[in-house]
Amino acid sequence: MEGNGSYSGPNFSRRSFLGRASQFSALFAAYPLIPLPDLALSLAQDSRVAQSPVVDKGFAAVRKVGDGLYATISDTSKGLQTMCNGGFLYGKDAALLIEGFVSPAGAAFQHETLRSLSKAPIMGALDTHYHFDHSMGNAYYGANGIALWAHAATAKRIWESYAAMQGVDRSAVTGPLEAQAKAAKSEAARQHAAQYASTIGNIFNTVNASVIAVPNRPLDPAKLPVKLDLGGVVAQLETYPGHSGTDVIVRVPEQNVVYTGDLLFNNMYPVTFDEQASVSGWRSTLKTFLSWGPDTIFIPGHGQICGPEGVQLSLDLFDDVEQQAQKLHKSGVPPEDAADQYVVPEKFKNVAIFAWSLSIGPTIAKLYKEWGVK
Ligand SMILES: [Zn+2]
Repeated sequence: MEGNGSYSGPNFSRRSFLGRASQFSALFAAYPLIPLPDLALSLAQDSRVAQSPVVDKGFAAVRKVGDGLYATISDTSKGLQTMCNGGFLYGKDAALLIEGFVSPAGAAFQHETLRSLSKAPIMGALDTHYHFDHSMGNAYYGANGIALWAHAATAKRIWESYAAMQGVDRSAVTGPLEAQAKAAKSEAARQHAAQYASTIGNIFNTVNASVIAVPNRPLDPAKLPVKLDLGGVVAQLETYPGHSGTDVIVRVPEQNVVYTGDLLFNNMYPVTFDEQASVSGWRSTLKTFLSWGPDTIFIPGHGQICGPEGVQLSLDLFDDVEQQAQKLHKSGVPPEDAADQYVVPEKFKNVAIFAWSLSIGPTIAKLYKEWGVK
């Protein structure tokens, strides 16, 4: 590119670049900066789980969690190259990568780590669902000839949700949201709406900085579960309702290890904003996760590796939001107001909230809908 900032098209003046750069760093402010907690003692003592990671890049570390099974765990307080968790599996015949992450740098980190451990042919990489933080690094796989798998609806939803954001005026996306914040009826509502506007603005910036690539190996949900024999390691791809309508998990029943994608957030309020998210569906999925027994290791979409206690916490969070929402409903509070009136109880004070209006707010709105309240 030209030096001295001489390129200054209408959408990319030096000033607007600086503006975007600082908005991107605002993503760090909007995203929970809580450092990643250490492994729970029960997991640190679990013979399947390695004491220390294979590689720790700060923004993410890769840890062995079973025979041929690795978890990539992001620490967003140290960088946002990956942002979500992922992992990889390999046997003697083949390997499978999990997640496209939020950037090609994230996907590259995981791929290189796999390559340092195994030369098994890579059968594919899987996006567990379409959301930007799991898919904006997809182009890396395309550039490296790695087939990209996902629920059949994922490509369409990536395109509809994110390609539509590219090349348009940022203020057209965030302006109406900022106006909503200004018009809010209460201080809580104003804060939630302002945080929502800034989060969507950050997603806009991330998406506009990305070369979108969509999965080329659609998985027909009617044909799941499917078994993958990697040579001594047998994984199953399964689909469940709850988070996005495109969710696929990777489960290794013989070793009791599950890569859940965003069907599990560890120590974070479940993110339910998606038009296809379902609170009742998600709760039943979490109960299914619990049915796999006390020894199950979960690699959540966000947060530290956990056992069933992480699943139980998500159920407890849904229960608490429901109890408070029921009270609000019974005292005549309409859904649009109730969404801002949940109070985080003392016992959940250390549970992260990605953005109120992407998690607690829509959970309340969806519960009201499930009760048939218009
Ligand atoms: Zn998600």
